[in-house]
Amino acid sequence: MSKIKNYINGQNIYPLNDKWLDNYNPSNGEVYGQIPNSCKKDVELAVESAKKAFESWSKTSIDERSKILSKIADLLEENLEKFAKAESKDNGKPLSLAKLIDIPRAADNFRFFAHAITQFGSESYETLGKEAINYTLRHPIGVVGCISPWNLPLYLFTWKIAPALATGNCVIAKPSEVTPMTAYLLGDICTKAGLPKGVLNIVHGLGQHVGSEIVSHKEIKAISFTGGTQTGAAIAKIAAPMFKKMSLELGGKNPNIIFADCDYDQMLKTTLLSSFSNQGQICLCGSRIFVEKSIYNKFKTDFVKAVKNLKVAHPSDKDAKIGALVSKPHIEKVLSYVKIAKKEGANLLCGGEKVSIKGYENGYYMQPTVLEIQNDSCKVNQEEIFGPIVTIMPFETEEEVIQMANSVRYGLSASIWTNNLKRTMKLTREIEAGIIWVNTWMLRDLRTPFGGVKDSGVGREGGFEALRFFTEPKNVCIKY
Ligand code: NDP
Repeated sequence: MSKIKNYINGQNIYPLNDKWLDNYNPSNGEVYGQIPNSCKKDVELAVESAKKAFESWSKTSIDERSKILSKIADLLEENLEKFAKAESKDNGKPLSLAKLIDIPRAADNFRFFAHAITQFGSESYETLGKEAINYTLRHPIGVVGCISPWNLPLYLFTWKIAPALATGNCVIAKPSEVTPMTAYLLGDICTKAGLPKGVLNIVHGLGQHVGSEIVSHKEIKAISFTGGTQTGAAIAKIAAPMFKKMSLELGGKNPNIIFADCDYDQMLKTTLLSSFSNQGQICLCGSRIFVEKSIYNKFKTDFVKAVKNLKVAHPSDKDAKIGALVSKPHIEKVLSYVKIAKKEGANLLCGGEKVSIKGYENGYYMQPTVLEIQNDSCKVNQEEIFGPIVTIMPFETEEEVIQMANSVRYGLSASIWTNNLKRTMKLTREIEAGIIWVNTWMLRDLRTPFGGVKDSGVGREGGFEALRFFTEPKNVCIKY
């Protein structure tokens, strides 16, 4: 059985305690490899190598860093097929999705920050009448920690690592223990691209061990985390008293608001994607669908018909629209919400069951599920399920739907479908979310700030926001 290793000081090495965790293939429920169950000592070794590497990496020119990051992007693109296969096998997502989105976006992350760092300036002010000039230097922080989740493994892993490296930091990174494969493969790519040893260190293992060692290590000065709200709160509790910089990208329960005046066909097509892409395991999925009453019945009929046509299949099936969920505990959690919904009086319009696929009977497949609810305060409409389940409910007025959209603890993203400009302006102002899409979904420009409000997190990633996060500003005032 294959074993992956930690990437420390530019080398692939076994965990120091020689302990291992099984890695499952969600498409058939079988163990297909082992990953390091690393401990404090591995994190310490990684930090030592990062500290040493920082002495020279922090002094490299922007051009040099930019070239290496671009090279990593090139190599990822050259190895797209290999990475996509590994991602799909590890996560259960359709291979077509990994090829189209996950791996190209990981390459884009490196290429984007390779360029962005060359454009990253700092402010300066002449303090008029005082014959003085103020300007701000931006220094790398030092050794930083990047912790990412399993849903978009390489995509989110590199979204943190690329800006951290571009700004001259050294990184200790931990992918989710459930989906470590592409992070493991990335190590070799970085070496080939000429990234000096120790600049990036990847330590595999459990969140509660490796993750919390990273968070509590006194030499790691900043934490960039993406994951669940509860984990984010646990991290903040440790990191805040240590005065660490933190960027926390957390859960979401996003509204998808549909007005009668929208472009109906486009809305229907996109709503299928925003509901069920990646098995509904995207923090930005629109899992609460509110539809204006006058088109509610039509929408309900058309949407349910389209959802029933989504093919649940093995990830390698090129027609698969829904692959396997990421793990056994996760599919069980998601299915438990169907029971909760029924108890709460929701109307199950379609789905709600496990799917057995011939030859892959132990895989973690389930039907895409639509629940019609009467009351937006029910549990399935309030809690993040993070699977292929959406709720639908009618509304009558703008005020009513704004109130329902804002009634959850989360505030990550929202989608609004309308062709009314005045209404667009009102809703985009009043809806509590970090990202709002109007007449589209998931259209991303990497220059824009990304993140949530309320329990969806603190801080922003993307563009210069990420470069600011990974640098420490120092103001200089010169009197002449
Ligand atoms: P978790 O919070 O369980 O885990 C995220 C990462 O944190 C994993 O690498 C995990 O390791 C690690 N971790 C777990 N416990 C700790 C700890 N005590 N200290 C440090 N690290 C720890 O999230 P999931 O992986 O289950 O991902 C799903 C969640 O991520 C959803 O809530 C989703 O909304 C959110 N998410 C948010 C996004 C955003 O941009 N806002 C984007 C994508 C997902 P391990 O896997 O080994 O437990």
